[in-house]
Amino acid sequence: MQAAPPHERHPMADEPRYLIEPERRTAVGGDYEVVVLGGGPAGIAAAAAAGRHGRKVLLIERHGFLGGMGTAAGVTNFCGLHANVHGDIRQVVHGVADELLARIDRLGGLNVPHLVLGKIHAQAYDTAAYKCAADDLLLSCHVDILFHALATGVAMDSDTHIKALLVETKSGRVAILARTFIDCSGDGDLAAFAGAPFEKGDENGDTLYPTMMFRLNGVDAKAAGDAWRTIPTLMDEAQKRGMTFPRKGAVVRPQKHTNEWRVNVTQVKTADGRAVDGTDARELSAGEIEGRRQAMAFFDFLRRQAPGFAQSYVVDIPPQLGVRETRRVTGLYQLTADDVLSCASFNDTIGVNGWPVENHVAGDVVWRWPDIPGSRGFNHLPYRMLVPRGLDNLWVSGRCASMTHEGQSAARVSGPCFVMGQAAGTAAHLSLAGNAGNADIPPEKLQQTLQADGVYLGRDVD
Ligand SMILES: Cc1cc2nc3c(=O)[nH]c(=O)nc-3n(C[C@H](O)[C@H](O)[C@H](O)COP(=O)(O)OP(=O)(O)OC[C@H]3O[C@@H](n4cnc5c(N)ncnc54)[C@H](O)[C@@H]3O)c2cc1C
Repeated sequence: MQAAPPHERHPMADEPRYLIEPERRTAVGGDYEVVVLGGGPAGIAAAAAAGRHGRKVLLIERHGFLGGMGTAAGVTNFCGLHANVHGDIRQVVHGVADELLARIDRLGGLNVPHLVLGKIHAQAYDTAAYKCAADDLLLSCHVDILFHALATGVAMDSDTHIKALLVETKSGRVAILARTFIDCSGDGDLAAFAGAPFEKGDENGDTLYPTMMFRLNGVDAKAAGDAWRTIPTLMDEAQKRGMTFPRKGAVVRPQKHTNEWRVNVTQVKTADGRAVDGTDARELSAGEIEGRRQAMAFFDFLRRQAPGFAQSYVVDIPPQLGVRETRRVTGLYQLTADDVLSCASFNDTIGVNGWPVENHVAGDVVWRWPDIPGSRGFNHLPYRMLVPRGLDNLWVSGRCASMTHEGQSAARVSGPCFVMGQAAGTAAHLSLAGNAGNADIPPEKLQQTLQADGVYLGRDVD
């Protein structure tokens, strides 16, 4: 055992000591043109796009299924596919997302879009259909998938160039060699392993609070009515009687089969009231237990107090706590709340975000919208937010892309994650085709390719 210098202290090491592992030889588990880490909306779209362009692609995912937070954390609802364009709510995210939606629909797992806060649409789905549709989509794009594989490190060719991703699997540790890498881990794991700069949280380091989602079955939909409107009042009344809830802003809404409802209401904190850090193994462990406790407590309230819920039961508490924000990798541009609220345009647009700033603060959810219907209701997403500083064969996509805390509070939802993923997968293809670094791809070429692949770049409306 050796004492560790203070700056090397590991969050899980109570005492400053470490063990020297014997040097090891790691088997090479594959050699790819594009490796995508993470199978959420960003990873699915990135792998599909690169695969469709004929690249040899491997997607690596720690769970045994695709969908990311959308399935693993039971989100069951797509936000950010639509925008309120001068009062007309329309779908603005297309391309790979369309192919996935069509597949989910064919499996009978897609709701019609519903109105959120009178301003925008979201679209619920069944998690089983999402998982199967995503498998089918990636197989149709000839993407190799490695499930049950946790990425734990990288090997570098130089300070700026990644050579291999190190992955722990049930078959042991392997090194996956690749020419390009796309970090869609949500947590920026790959980028952090490679030494990319990143930020966490707001100016005080406070991240968005996580939520343990859950779903109920056996709801009497007729009796429940528009429960998402009435339940907040029931909560206010219960609070006057002394009951406490983890947060305001309960989302209690039906899935496609109207006896099944999703509940988004818990808020998971540490003992000192901070948001649980989704990159801290101990905090995550405590958070899973606390999230399930809060879910059962709220279910008890619904069963007793909300019309239509008396005979309901918890049909699913998802495999993991829902983590909204951890590392945001610093890229060539950071998307800001101002960009979202002013519906900013960028010359290097790769698609659009129509979701407002949805900030999960302590005890509440705070919304900020662009001018509706005065504005076009969406901002461009610039290519530069996918390009991390200091690394030339890596892209970051999804909720860990380059955004400020408040920019991420909007563009972290599924729609813009599909957009970012498709752009990163396409950019990796173009970089291989042109032997160019991530920052040297001509934006016009990327935009032409994305448009030919069905992506909406948002340049036709001011
Ligand atoms: C409680 C909650 C409710 C939400 N509600 C909505 C909503 O209603 N609508 C909406 O559109 N969005 C919602 N969101 C946001 C949205 O689900 C996420 O921001 C979105 O899924 C992010 O996509 P992503 O692909 O960037 O990352 P993720 O969905 O987080 O996917 C990352 C994937 O990478 C994998 N991974 C991570 N690290 C590793 C590693 N080291 N090795 C291997 N695999 C790894 C993970 O297992 C995961 O599958 C919600 C989020 C939460 C937490």
